[in-house]
Amino acid sequence: MESDKRARVEAWLRYGADLELGPYYRNRVSSSPVVYTNQPVVAPLAEPLQSPIAVAARAAGTSSSLSLSPTTPAPKASARFSAPVPFAQAPSLFEASDRIKDDTFQLIRETIGDCTRCKLHKARTNIVFGVGSMKAKLVFVGEGPGHDEDIKGEPFVGRAGKLLTQMIEAMGLRREDVYICNVVKCRPPENRLPEKDEITTCSPFLFRQIDVIRPKVICALGSCASQTLLQTTQGISRFRGEWFDFRGSKLIATYHPAYLLRNPSAKSEVWKDLQKVMGVLGLQPKRK
Ligand code: SF4
Repeated sequence: MESDKRARVEAWLRYGADLELGPYYRNRVSSSPVVYTNQPVVAPLAEPLQSPIAVAARAAGTSSSLSLSPTTPAPKASARFSAPVPFAQAPSLFEASDRIKDDTFQLIRETIGDCTRCKLHKARTNIVFGVGSMKAKLVFVGEGPGHDEDIKGEPFVGRAGKLLTQMIEAMGLRREDVYICNVVKCRPPENRLPEKDEITTCSPFLFRQIDVIRPKVICALGSCASQTLLQTTQGISRFRGEWFDFRGSKLIATYHPAYLLRNPSAKSEVWKDLQKVMGVLGLQPKRK
C-alpha cells in the first residue's frame, strides 16, 4: 500500500481504537467457518459493515483478506448454542495494522524493557516473558505468573506448571518443544486475576510473540487467556474444546492446570481437548 494511503488508514484505525471499536470489529463473525468440529458455534452473519474505517480501507486499496464485510452467505447458527460465541478473526484490519514487520523476540523484550506500563510492575520480582521454542507448533497461554513464576522469571513452574509439563509429556512432547507464556507478564498481587486495564496494556506483547512464532495451534488455558484471545466475556465452559481461528493459528480453550488441581475430575475433559490438539499436530500419546 502506498505510504500516504497507509498513513490515512492508520489514522482511521487510531481514531477507531480511541473509540474502543476494536473489540466490536474483532467480534464480528467470519464469512468462513471457524469451528472445525462437527459442533459449530458460529452465529448468523451480521449485515456487511459500512464503517468509515471500512470505506477508508477500500479507498486505500486494502486487500480482500482484510475486508471487514462478509461476502458469502451466512452459516446457520448451531442448535447447541443460542447465543454467538464471539471470536477474533485473523487478521482483522486492526490486527493487521498491529503486526510489526520483521518482529523478533529480542525486539519485543527490548520494547518491554523494565516495564512500568501498568500497576502490576509495583510488586513484581521478575518480568515473566515466556519460555520454550520460538519455532513451536504449539503455544500454551495462561493468565499470569504466580509466586513461583515471579521468583524464577519463568511461566508455569509451580504446582500447576508441573501438571502442565505432565500434560505436555502425555502428548508425546517435551516442555522445550512448545512455547509457554501468559496474558500478563507480571504477577498480580495475591494471585488475583489480571484486571482489564492490565490485560489491555500487556496483551499486545503476547500478540506480538504469537505473531513471531506463528504456531499451528494455540491452547488457551483458563478463562482469562481464552476470553482475552477470543475477545469474549462468555464463560469458558461455553466454548471449551471448540476450534477457532486466531491470527492465522487454530485456537482451542481448555481448563487451566490450577483448576485441575482443585477439580481433578475435569482432567478427562482436558485430555479430550489435548487429544484434539494432538490430532491437528499429528502427535501420538506418550507410551508408558
Ligand atoms: Fe508491563 Fe505487562 Fe508487567 Fe504491566 S504486566 S508492568 S504491561 S510487563
